[in-house]
Amino acid sequence: MKSVEDSAVDQAEWDRVKSRLKQEFGESAFKSWLTPITVATVRNGEVELAVPTRFMRDWITTHYAERIRALWNGENPSVRKVTLKVEAARNAALAEVAAKEKHAEKPVAQNSGHVINRMTVPGATSRAASARAATVPAQTFTTPLGADLSAPLDPRYVFENFVVGKPNEFAYAAAKRVAESDQVSFNPLFLYGGVGLGKTHLMHAIAHEIRNRTPERKVVYLSAEKFMYSFVRALRNQDMVSFKEQFRSVHVLMIDEVQFISGKDSTQEEFFHTFNALVDQGRQIVLSADKSPSNLEEIGDRLRSRLQSGLVADLHPTTFELRLGILDAKAEQLGVVVPQKVKEFLAHKITSNVRELEGALNRLVAHAQLVGGALTLETAQDLLQDLLRAHDRRLTMEEIQKRVAEHFKIRVSDMSSARRSRAVARPRQVAMYLSKQLTSRSLPEIGRAFGGRDHTTVMHAVRKVEELVKLDTAFAEDVELLTRMLES
Ligand code: ADP
Ligand code: MG
Repeated sequence: MKSVEDSAVDQAEWDRVKSRLKQEFGESAFKSWLTPITVATVRNGEVELAVPTRFMRDWITTHYAERIRALWNGENPSVRKVTLKVEAARNAALAEVAAKEKHAEKPVAQNSGHVINRMTVPGATSRAASARAATVPAQTFTTPLGADLSAPLDPRYVFENFVVGKPNEFAYAAAKRVAESDQVSFNPLFLYGGVGLGKTHLMHAIAHEIRNRTPERKVVYLSAEKFMYSFVRALRNQDMVSFKEQFRSVHVLMIDEVQFISGKDSTQEEFFHTFNALVDQGRQIVLSADKSPSNLEEIGDRLRSRLQSGLVADLHPTTFELRLGILDAKAEQLGVVVPQKVKEFLAHKITSNVRELEGALNRLVAHAQLVGGALTLETAQDLLQDLLRAHDRRLTMEEIQKRVAEHFKIRVSDMSSARRSRAVARPRQVAMYLSKQLTSRSLPEIGRAFGGRDHTTVMHAVRKVEELVKLDTAFAEDVELLTRMLES
């Protein structure tokens, strides 16, 4: 039989999995699909979840179960399987209340009582590591450090599911090359770009492909945070030798979000040595970050130049066409028909990143399936109101004017002044162009915000910038940089 602490640990793990799910799938999908889930049993590496209806069971099984399993496995490597059952008799809300009561009561009745503190202190569940340490079987601690070195891969993140367009074709091609060649192609491959543009997706895709093609090659994928964690743990356990050996026995090492490595001197140093050792042995390294190596401020020069010595490929902010393509692909994956108008609406409005775009689509589809209504432009506008408002709020034309003025070192007031010298006219055109691209304002509205100019002036500005971007790489970089900064 399971002890009370065991169930508390299960619950704490589930809470952490849930908060990850919420981040990944968004508030709305989370509320509709994930809050009603309760943990029925956790036994022999198998988690059984209970949901109130059969429909929910099927939906969650096809859309979320694999992700739940992967996340849970990340929390607790012994968990290998997740199944769902219907508990029709029980109302989900009641079940949750009952579950809470159960946790609140039992420790008092049967145990020392410190568990109850953990369960009732807000936020304490996320710090329940000590509870876990107390109940995880001892053998976990004696398994070699590297046994769970690699983080689980998301099975959806494969090359086939990656939609290629202008903004990401270079990064895609580079990733493909690394995945398909048995020799080291570029070392390291350094992928960078803003949040939600597909870095992690491409890294997982490389790992999947290499594991499929050449299972004998050891591929390790992990986040920079996890790398640091393993490093610090090895230091504490005085186990550096096997730590190093483990990394050095790897054929392909992939570290996601290396911006988190910057700053920590000793970790950086270790990273550098591990890196050099692997490169010297002809092993492939793939890294990602939210900035290019030259913009990673906190890393040392030696590491920086090392990072630049391979191929640096960036993922640019998405274009309308790419967003549309992604929506087509996702709708097909979900097996639903989404009217063109709705897709265009989403692609036009949700420009910040692909994750949000996916989230919005999931939300619409879930709603349509739940209430059985048709997916129309009106329902889309209605359902996504809060999201769209948040977007509009996030990026105002004032903000754009301010940032662009700063960037080109002119006064904000010149955005609406009558001055026509190139030094202010060009930045003004850029700001107009960005207002058109990044907000949902109309041309006349934009004209008004720029000192009451005519909409044809705005149109001219947009064309001019588009033209210059093609001709002048330095200018294109300015625009790119500004776009990225404003969208983040
Ligand atoms: P990043 O690591 O750059 O923050 P992710 O790789 O996590 O971004 O991507 C966020 C989400 O968007 C993922 O679900 C991913 O599958 C999806 N995504 C991003 N780019 C594409 C693309 N080009 N085609 C299909 N899906 C994409
Ligand atoms: Mg990522």
